[in-house]
Parts: sequence; C-alpha cells; structure tokens
Amino acid sequence: MTDQTPIIAIDGPAGSGKSSVSKEIARRRGYGYLDTGAGYRALSWHVLSLGRDTADTDAVLDALSSFDLRLGLDPDDRTVAVQGTDVTAAIRTPEVTAAIAGFTRVAEVRAFLNGIFRRLAGESGLEGVVIEGRDITSVVAPDAPVRILMTASPEVRAQRRGLELGADTAEVLAAQAARDASDSHVLDLAQADPGVDVVDTSDLDFEQSIDAVLTVIDRKLGGRDGR
Ligand code: C5P
Repeated sequence: MTDQTPIIAIDGPAGSGKSSVSKEIARRRGYGYLDTGAGYRALSWHVLSLGRDTADTDAVLDALSSFDLRLGLDPDDRTVAVQGTDVTAAIRTPEVTAAIAGFTRVAEVRAFLNGIFRRLAGESGLEGVVIEGRDITSVVAPDAPVRILMTASPEVRAQRRGLELGADTAEVLAAQAARDASDSHVLDLAQADPGVDVVDTSDLDFEQSIDAVLTVIDRKLGGRDGR
C-alpha cells in the first residue's frame, strides 16, 4: 500500500453497519473514505451497459480496458461515475447487485480493482483513509495498522437492511443469505485473520458502534490523531 497514508481496513457483510460507521469515522477524523463495493458495483454496471454478461469472463476482462472509474474519497460526496456518466444511483439496483457475482471469483478482475483502490488511497495525501469492503484486511491492505471485521447476527443485519430499504425482514434475510454464500470466498464471517479485531455490532446502536471502532483505531494507532 503506502508508507505515508495510514489505512483503516474495515471488512464486513451487508448490514453489519460498516458503511455508515466507516463514513462517520472518516468525517470525524478527517480521513478519506473508500467504498470498494462501489467499485465492484460500477464494474457490474459497466459490463451490463455494454450489453455483456458479467458471467462471461472474457467479456468482463475486455470491459476493463474501457472502465474509466471515478470514485472519490470524500465521505460526503459519494458520487460514482463511469466514463463521465453519473452511476451513483444506478449501481444500487438489484440487477446490478446480482450481476456482481458473475465476476467476483475472477482473480484478474479482483487484481485490477485492487490496483485502483490502492492507487486511490496511496495517492490521496490524506492523514488516513478508511477502506471498507470484504477483503481489505486480508488482500487489499493486509499490512494496514488497523484491521477490523465488523459483524452482526444475520437477523439484526436483515432488520437494519429492511428498515433502510423499506422491505420485509424475511425477504431481506433470504437475499442476504444468498449474498453471504456467494461472498464466502472473499469474506469468512466465522473466522477473522490473526491480528484482525472483531467488532460485533449486534447489540450496539450507531453511536456505540462508532465508539467501539474508534477504540480499536486509537489503540492501534497509539492515541487519537487526525483531528
Ligand atoms: O459492499 P457492497 O455490498 O456494496 O458490495 C457489493 C458486492 O461487491 C459484494 O456483495 C461483493 O460481492 C463484492 N465485493 C467484493 N470485494 C470487496 C467489496 C465488494 O467482492 N472488497
């Protein structure tokens, strides 16, 4: 990664609270915030917009050459653009989300996206960057000074997502189980790598989750900084 920019690596499944907590920590500490899931979503959108199938590995590898991604580090500007087209809302549709699974196992694709993420964080010149995703603590930034796995019980996660999306908890629970299974090759929810701090937010509200993560950050970075 980089010697200059401390990385706060946060992994976790959907509904663990990692996105909202990561964003708020970046705001409070003046860090950058990098949502790697948005990169995967943008690539899925790009392949679909070319009329190709995301499960067609050759088509996805072909699409990488025209994948001009704009992904910012400002926690308050979550604009995502591909080749100048604003796809901020489009990458959140169920169609785009489902299509991501077509290429998440392709090592070359993951390496390409990881290169973008490392460059963005490394060239930021910021005092720190919170990078969140599924394989940040293990692959993207295994040497990061702070590595956290945020978890929560499946029921709590589904309840949070249901409230967020205005959807039924039982339906969300089923979709979530499918996504967890398809993501299990990048994120082992049952076991964190050695050196990774686990923060279980099942019984924590938003503010308590932030406190728990900040406690880990302060312990690992040796006191509060970045303010
Ligand atoms: O975080 P988000 O739910 O937006 O991520 C969308 C999907 O992108 C995940 O379900 C996962 O399949 C994939 N992803 C990944 N590695 C990451 C981030 C996201 O495989 N670091």
